[in-house]
Amino acid sequence: MLLEATPPLERELNPWQSADARFKEAAARLGLDDGMRKILSTPAREITVHIPVQLDDGRLEVFTGYRVQHSVARGPGKGGIRFAPDVTLDEVRALASWMTWKCAVVNIPFGGAKGGVICNPSVLSQFELERITRRYTAEILDFIGPERDVPAPDMNTNEQTMAWIMDTYSMHHRTTVNAVVTGKPLDLGGSRGRPEATGRGCLIVTLQALRRLGLEPSATRVVIQGFGNVGGMAAKLMQRTGFKIICIIEVDGAVYNPKGLDVLALAEHRKETGSITGFPEGEDIDRDEALFLDCDVLLPAAKENVITSQNAGRIRAKILCEGANGPTTAVADSILAEKRVFVIPDILANAGGVTVSYFEWVQDRQGFFWNEQLVNGRLEEIMVNSFRDVVGYAEKHQVHNRTAAYMLALDRVAFAIKLRGIYA
Ligand code: GLU
Repeated sequence: MLLEATPPLERELNPWQSADARFKEAAARLGLDDGMRKILSTPAREITVHIPVQLDDGRLEVFTGYRVQHSVARGPGKGGIRFAPDVTLDEVRALASWMTWKCAVVNIPFGGAKGGVICNPSVLSQFELERITRRYTAEILDFIGPERDVPAPDMNTNEQTMAWIMDTYSMHHRTTVNAVVTGKPLDLGGSRGRPEATGRGCLIVTLQALRRLGLEPSATRVVIQGFGNVGGMAAKLMQRTGFKIICIIEVDGAVYNPKGLDVLALAEHRKETGSITGFPEGEDIDRDEALFLDCDVLLPAAKENVITSQNAGRIRAKILCEGANGPTTAVADSILAEKRVFVIPDILANAGGVTVSYFEWVQDRQGFFWNEQLVNGRLEEIMVNSFRDVVGYAEKHQVHNRTAAYMLALDRVAFAIKLRGIYA
């Protein structure tokens, strides 16, 4: 169906629509010509694969998977692979374009790509997940590689998934190729600091934002949505830095303590009970209402479309640090701007993950591995510089942080395309 014929809310919730709206605004402000706009707004390659997989009970099932390479102008495609029942091509397209802009914002030599497989990991066994992963990898084998496109984990995929991809690719190449994916286990060429990298990046840019707003970490109240790899790590690191984590929101509920939650104890509680609810040192509150708590920092670190035109007016945070990809719809942007929320846009806020993925790829290709201090130090340097670039650009050009991040990114990618020229 044509996007124009779609009802407004449905259109607002289409991530590709949000990506396109922000792209258009930045392109217009940059005065990009029509041809360049066409190139930058069209994914370079979209692969759809149908994967036959035998389930544990003997039945055959066919799963659909995608890999979208939005741009390879600045380097190989880069971006995660997600497994979820509601994956759509438009979502993967949007996520792939966000990877292009994200890598350009932090100025690392990658393009942008993303993959997804429509499946429900919560009802699949490890063996079934392994077969899906391996067959998906086999289907996209010709299009990935250390110099072509380098996948990584994303929603519902992890180090183990990356190990299977690396092994499948390596078996076909008759040699171990660990730089084909990042986010691998340490023992297979993974990087120190990679599991914490996205959360650490969120902490680094939040500290920068606090400095700009004249706020003290020890007086900072944080609400985090998502207690997984990104939100859980950010919570731990922020607590260690002295922030008060007053609420954690998860799919099964929200836990609140105005004095600050002990997030390590909360993680322990979830391990024992399977849920964050019922935590003795916190109060269970309504998970939908928790987003609107009075706080200094709101860190959505779960999924897309959490802040929309329907609820943005109720956000009370001073700083929005987007740990997830696309947690805010494009329509909600102007509402947050009116409320003067300091937005650290996803393509900057969560770029710590792909930055350390870049370090992992470099280490794999060098065959020489760095210690954690070096990884974290280099990550901090890149995140601090990128924050300064984006916020400086926003001030100079009198635009919001998100528009500034997009403008900076579009400009860098457009420049690379101009330098390379169009091969014909
Ligand atoms: N999935 C992560 C992201 O959205 C990491 C991608 C990567 O490391 O390539 O940024």
